[in-house]
Amino acid sequence: MSTPHITLGVLNGDDIGHEIVPAAVEVAQAAAERTGLVIDWRHMPLGRKALDELGTTMPVGTLDTLSTFDGFILGPIGHREYPKVEGAINPHPILRKHFDLFANVRPTRSYPDIGCIYDDIDLVIVRENNEGFQPDRNVVAGSGEFRPTHDTTISVRVITREGSRKVAEAALELARARRKKLTVVHKNTVFKLGCGMFVEECYRAAEAYPDVEVEEAIVDTFAMHLIRHPQQYDVVVTTNMFGDILTDEAAGLVGGLGMAPGLCIGRGSIAMAQATHGSAPDIAGTGLANPYAMVESTRMLIEWLGRRHDVPQAQATAKLMAKGVQSALAAPETRTPDIRGTGRLADMVAAMRGTIEGITLGA
Ligand code: ATP
Repeated sequence: MSTPHITLGVLNGDDIGHEIVPAAVEVAQAAAERTGLVIDWRHMPLGRKALDELGTTMPVGTLDTLSTFDGFILGPIGHREYPKVEGAINPHPILRKHFDLFANVRPTRSYPDIGCIYDDIDLVIVRENNEGFQPDRNVVAGSGEFRPTHDTTISVRVITREGSRKVAEAALELARARRKKLTVVHKNTVFKLGCGMFVEECYRAAEAYPDVEVEEAIVDTFAMHLIRHPQQYDVVVTTNMFGDILTDEAAGLVGGLGMAPGLCIGRGSIAMAQATHGSAPDIAGTGLANPYAMVESTRMLIEWLGRRHDVPQAQATAKLMAKGVQSALAAPETRTPDIRGTGRLADMVAAMRGTIEGITLGA
């Protein structure tokens, strides 16, 4: 039998990315060594460091090289701080578009004692990733935002039947594997055509999933219910910008942005681990960044690849990582201050590794 093997690209991104991405690699590697999974880590330059060293934030050949891998980890990108020079582009919309990673799967779950508002939240928001209002990815050339006069700005929202259908199917698939409930979040009372089409396609896709209960919610009311009764949701699907906002709101229920992981997937065989949060330049270099979101995003990637390519060792690796994460979150000394801890990133990673290395396999 050949050795189970996956190849993963590692793109640190900016600021705390240089701390949390190596942390995620370290934890995943520790788990893989226990299960016999060989992970071939391929480190690639991207972001501000690549700009300083190579003259571009996204070196030539990045997309071609990534396409030969099974998946990749993308650290947070601090593009707002990039100097206004040629070569300083925001790489993440390009990556999401190029690999058609149209579904951004963002789970929210409670852990004890870390400052969650409720102790029983377990939901996933699936955010459409490549169209909607986001002007840097909803057109193939130019921008979805323009200024015809000095005092007028027009932002175009793109909704397509195909894009809506694809993200709905990804969400339904996930709901089927969970508690079999899907909430479609929209505002078709106002965006009668755009949200109207999105909702229509969600219901059309749901015809193939009779085992999944489908309900809909208007986005503003949903935002309120999410605060008051988050337990009633299982999988939520929504358009790009609503998803962007609601996933940060959901993170606020379970300890903040450090607790918000994400996985970008499409219909293809490649996926990208990307935490919901940004590059947090305010805490970069302090050792206080919470690695949970990045470690968990990486765990989701390995678990997804294990299922997609039928590699049981990858699934076992993901399970071990989950145990490591859980143990680190259980004590204040091994948690960062944003989640009521007294520890640092290094303490969290050491606790995760310690658990993974000490666990009796099969237990
Ligand atoms: P973006 O628009 O790129 O998502 P943002 O403006 O929302 O970025 P972030 O970089 O996500 O900003 O950070 C917002 C704040 O959340 C930071 O100032 C930081 O204090 C906190 N934060 C974000 N990520 C983490 C983390 N992993 N650990 C601890 N705190 C974090």
